[in-house]
Amino acid sequence: MIDVENVVKRYNGFTALNGVTFQVGEAEWLTIMGPSGSGKTTLLNLIAGLDTPTSGKVAVCNEIISEMSHDERAKFRRENIGIVFQQFHLIPYLTALENVMLAQYIHSMPDRNEALDALRLVGLESKAENYPFQLSGGEQQRVAIARAIINDPAVILADEPTGNLDEENERIVLEIFERLKNEGKTVVVVTHNPEVAEFGDRTIKIHHGEIVSGNNSRLTHFLQTD
Ligand code: ADP
Ligand code: MG
Repeated sequence: MIDVENVVKRYNGFTALNGVTFQVGEAEWLTIMGPSGSGKTTLLNLIAGLDTPTSGKVAVCNEIISEMSHDERAKFRRENIGIVFQQFHLIPYLTALENVMLAQYIHSMPDRNEALDALRLVGLESKAENYPFQLSGGEQQRVAIARAIINDPAVILADEPTGNLDEENERIVLEIFERLKNEGKTVVVVTHNPEVAEFGDRTIKIHHGEIVSGNNSRLTHFLQTD
């Protein structure tokens, strides 16, 4: 579902990613772990098509996103990728429901009932008319997840999604990702928190822009653990 091949990313001579290769399968949850500054966000942004690699290849759903134009990437992202950030990035003057419907609007057409269904999925139907300031951090992140999944993307990317949450909300959010994975979605979660990495199918670790441990397929994981 995701194929990252020998990806290098440099910023003005600084090497943020130095030849990263891994794959993620359909309905698989991969955790990417590493300390601050190791290149996690850079990597996730390349998979999201928010940025392009200096060299190497990134393919998502068999489409080579690293070779697409800016506009092609934006269109591809709208249709195939849902993104969840550490900062929830909700629009403060829109209700929870309207925040979700905004993503529908940009994709195709707003559909109130569909947006309510997405909020129900994250357990927030009763807060649909609340503004972000009337929601706890955990609830805001759940709205952000509803927004990320509203267009039914095959791939969900989350960058430190529980970084601003307490333990209970962390668990709630990770259980939502678990449910999405069980429904067949491919999930990639970036974190520096080992507790978060206990969820998910397997973990790769990056340091200074290189993978230092982790298995490159479910098969090797299976062979090594059983
Ligand atoms: P992480 O998410 O693991 O904390 P990042 O991917 O954000 O790490 O950053 C990796 C390194 O690349 C850092 O040293 C950061 O300063 C650098 N970096 C990230 N984005 C840029 C950018 N747009 N321009 C220059 N340097 C950047
Ligand atoms: Mg980061």
